[in-house]
Amino acid sequence: MPWTKSPASGNVLPLMSMWDLANANLRALVPYEPGKPIDDVARELGLDPKSVIKLASNENPLGPSPKAIAAMRDALAGCHIYPDGGAFHLRNALAAQLGVDRSQIVLGNGSNEIIQFAYSAFAKPGRHRAIASKWAFVVYKLMAQLFDVELVETPDRHFHHDLDAIRAAITPDTRLVFLANPNNPTGTRIPNADLKAFLEAVPCHVAIFLDEAYQEFLQDPPDTVGWLRQHPNLTVFRTFSKAQGLAGLRIGYAIASPETAEILQRTRQPFNVNLLAQVAALAALDDHDHIDATRRLTLHGRAQLAALFDQLGLRHLESHANFIMVNVRDADHVFQTLLRRGIIIRSLKSYGLPEWVRVSIGTPEEMNRFASEFPSTLPLA
Ligand SMILES: *Cc1c(COP(=O)(O)O)cnc(C)c1O
Repeated sequence: MPWTKSPASGNVLPLMSMWDLANANLRALVPYEPGKPIDDVARELGLDPKSVIKLASNENPLGPSPKAIAAMRDALAGCHIYPDGGAFHLRNALAAQLGVDRSQIVLGNGSNEIIQFAYSAFAKPGRHRAIASKWAFVVYKLMAQLFDVELVETPDRHFHHDLDAIRAAITPDTRLVFLANPNNPTGTRIPNADLKAFLEAVPCHVAIFLDEAYQEFLQDPPDTVGWLRQHPNLTVFRTFSKAQGLAGLRIGYAIASPETAEILQRTRQPFNVNLLAQVAALAALDDHDHIDATRRLTLHGRAQLAALFDQLGLRHLESHANFIMVNVRDADHVFQTLLRRGIIIRSLKSYGLPEWVRVSIGTPEEMNRFASEFPSTLPLA
């Protein structure tokens, strides 16, 4: 047993474990389980990494925007210089595209960092509460645990957010509500009119964080940025990880009232978004060809995948994003069997959905390979 000096008394005490010193809320924190990396799978199974396909993290199968790649190449030699912490050019471009003021844009190291800003800014540990729907994006809950804030999970309605249940769960201690539209892992969406009615009804002591990571895949996206003027307690956040294909660079952003944005800015590190991510995002923002191609590929692949599941008689959810959640009866069995054949999908067992998997939309070749392997991995009914 290691021995240590107690800093307070100077006495020598047995130190059982560093966990005795750690913040108690960290003990219950279950680390995020990411999609399995291709390299890990190839190494573990002795496969050629090139033969492994990953349909597990809702990444863009077309890769990054070619304009983003070119812009990063040009910027490489300048990487000894700190990035612009205020991200002048990117925030200007975003503001112009969205029709807001630059002061209303806050950049994050991935939009996941925006979730962290939300807790830093608006929830007192051990005192305030946050609300999210059951089966909402899991990071809202992970961050709640990290910040020692209680997250109230409201019942869902057939894998959709139940906005009435969320409203009913609001108490004077509630400071944050997280909504994902479309949601991950379900792919379900909130009807535009319901969302607007919810904003009208929520009391103003609650900050609403609306996650629009898959906004580009919605057929008729709500005008949430336009709603910011009437709803200063609304923050919309988006990412370059999905439609723009820049997941590896870690960049996302929030759009909020100038006041909320100023508050969120105070919670971030001075250089939280790196130089390459800034130039790539700036270039990707205007690459409408790439985004359109991504959208077309996604809609086509999604329809194909839904047809395959229908043909196999599997229950699946109507998705508004670049993945589909499907009931395969035994998620881990299907996940493991596909993995051995070099296809990575996501089992939702750790989410508490042991019968369901989530499959991201890939290239036509990847979808064909999935379609030829998947049926034989299903457990017998
Ligand atoms: C992928 C995803 C994000 C994006 O995360 P980044 O940190 O920007 O990569 C945010 N919210 C949801 C619901 C997602 O699925």
